[in-house]
Amino acid sequence: MSGSGVESISSMNASECTTLLIQNARIIDPAAHRDEVADLFIANGILQPVPSVLPSNIRRIDAKGLVATPGLWDLHVHFRDPGNPRAETLESGSRAAAAGGFTHVVTMPNTSPACDTPAVLQHQMNPSLAVRILPSACVTRSRSGDVLADLEALAAAGAVAFTDDGTMVDNPSLMAEAMRRASALSRVVMDHAVLPKLAGPGVIRACEAAKRLNLPVFPPEAETEAVAQDIRISRQTGAPIHIQHLSCAESAAAIRAAQRDGVRVSAEASPHHLALSADDIADDQGDFRMNPPLGNRLDVLKLREAVLDGTIAAFATDHAPHAPDTKAHGFMRAPSGVIGLETAVGVTYTLMVGVERMPLSVWVERWTTGPAAILGLPAPRLAMGKPADLVLLDVTTPWRVDPARFQSRARNCPFARWTLHGRARLTLCEGRITWMDDPWE
Ligand SMILES: [Zn+2]
Repeated sequence: MSGSGVESISSMNASECTTLLIQNARIIDPAAHRDEVADLFIANGILQPVPSVLPSNIRRIDAKGLVATPGLWDLHVHFRDPGNPRAETLESGSRAAAAGGFTHVVTMPNTSPACDTPAVLQHQMNPSLAVRILPSACVTRSRSGDVLADLEALAAAGAVAFTDDGTMVDNPSLMAEAMRRASALSRVVMDHAVLPKLAGPGVIRACEAAKRLNLPVFPPEAETEAVAQDIRISRQTGAPIHIQHLSCAESAAAIRAAQRDGVRVSAEASPHHLALSADDIADDQGDFRMNPPLGNRLDVLKLREAVLDGTIAAFATDHAPHAPDTKAHGFMRAPSGVIGLETAVGVTYTLMVGVERMPLSVWVERWTTGPAAILGLPAPRLAMGKPADLVLLDVTTPWRVDPARFQSRARNCPFARWTLHGRARLTLCEGRITWMDDPWE
């Protein structure tokens, strides 16, 4: 990043730098069917055609070898706000998202209090944050599973989707009504598809570590039966359903078959469920506990296949921060969940593009147009005349994961010390620079 008149990204100041010329980037904009090396010009935060005469105050970025895409979208994050600032806040979660290359994130409503009123919902939608928050709201009041929340009022206040994430809506008639009402509002219901009566106390799939640590086993049917139930309701009502954090091979197969039948079912897969299996749980470590738990090796393979063929149209991190002391006392005592925003690009690029040979443009779709389509929102684009939402990615320089350097307040990352390819160098959200990073080690 040097040369006459060309500055390194780190030398720029976030507040001043809104007139930019990004030179020689590989621009991948799936919604525009664009994949070419070209320049991008941003003035006053607006993406514009490159003028023949450049303004004198312009800042140039040599982006040779970097990839420019629309800002990434994450369908599934927990920012713990309100309720648990030791784990994360809207500010720290948003900084972690921007550092990960994200411009849009869907926050989950299992906050304290739960996001089941317009007032709690609007608390999330702070325009000064480093990321655009698209809040989801509860399906049922207090996520109790008993009485539907006021979906109409929540949609009017800005809810982009409904979910009781953390628990399933395990009442078929209530779920059918929720799906119908959400569909009438052009919103999707997203389900944490785990049947409590089948999951029981299970915290880990059957594996060596389960035996060695004497942990209660989570049967895959807890998920696959839940997915089957949700598909049945969607088929009956004609309303869409989105299945969160898929972990089982059979779930992916059922969703693929239902989609072929015209059922409006979509799904997401997390980086950790694509990268890790239960066989990777070596020690009694809380950072490997998540819900649903890591699958077996066949599950991982089949989930990757489903991401490749589009059955799973979106990656989603399920970024689930916890204060460090809560994760430090072994698997059984740890709360469920891992953080993911700052490793999402690296893990999914390294595995899906590097190992599985996924075309780069398809990988970009799974982080941009795929999630937006699930929400029924317009496709993210590098659109001229609009405030710039974009990320510059370095997919060639290897980097080593060091959770101590994360923007997130939490450190519960199962990828510590992994070497990855793929990292955000510069993120612009609505024309503002929200992240920039120097070349790293
Ligand atoms: Zn969940």
